[in-house]
Amino acid sequence: MARYTGPDCKLCRRERQKLYLKGTRCEGPKCAIEKRPYPPGEHGRGRIRESEYLLQLREKQKARRIYGVLERQFRNYYQEASRQGGLTGENLLVLLETRLDNTVFRGGLARSRDEARQLVRHRHFQVNGRTVNIPSYRVRVGDVITVRDRARNFVPILGSLELIGAKQIPSWVSTDQTKLQISVLDLPKRGQIDVPVQEQLIVELYSK
Ligand code: SF4
Repeated sequence: MARYTGPDCKLCRRERQKLYLKGTRCEGPKCAIEKRPYPPGEHGRGRIRESEYLLQLREKQKARRIYGVLERQFRNYYQEASRQGGLTGENLLVLLETRLDNTVFRGGLARSRDEARQLVRHRHFQVNGRTVNIPSYRVRVGDVITVRDRARNFVPILGSLELIGAKQIPSWVSTDQTKLQISVLDLPKRGQIDVPVQEQLIVELYSK
């Protein structure tokens, strides 16, 4: 599946807020939002005419960028969410949150979603004993994600383990740092999904 390969910090600047796309750099003084908190481009500091559509569009773009999903795949997620019962916006976030790359990131075995995605693509993780290299693979309750033996001393994974104490691991997953294993205990609830997105605006955008 295709992915965005341009500069991540530009995406945060476009949304005028930190999306935490680059791991540890996002916490430091090199964060581009700290230095240039306005959208990129020639007219970045110009006046923007606010509109309802613009607000909805920005929320959708923000969600896409946080989870690293391109437009068509995001729309597919939306359509699946709308077919499920309950609140479409919440369903959408649950579908995004239960991607394998996001689960690895949430469980603390990668410093960013991009890093998690690359580790998964490079076949460093197994789900229930089988190697999975699809970042969008949807984890289910009871799934156990483990680091393959060959990657146990891999620098990105060791680096993530060093940071795991400072990170808040959501209660729908549990990480065993000795076994390098993440267990999916439950599906995430909206209150456990820590993303600055107003999902209702996304639903309004796609419902037009
Ligand atoms: Fe966004 Fe992180 Fe870049 Fe800051 S350092 S602009 S939070 S990606």
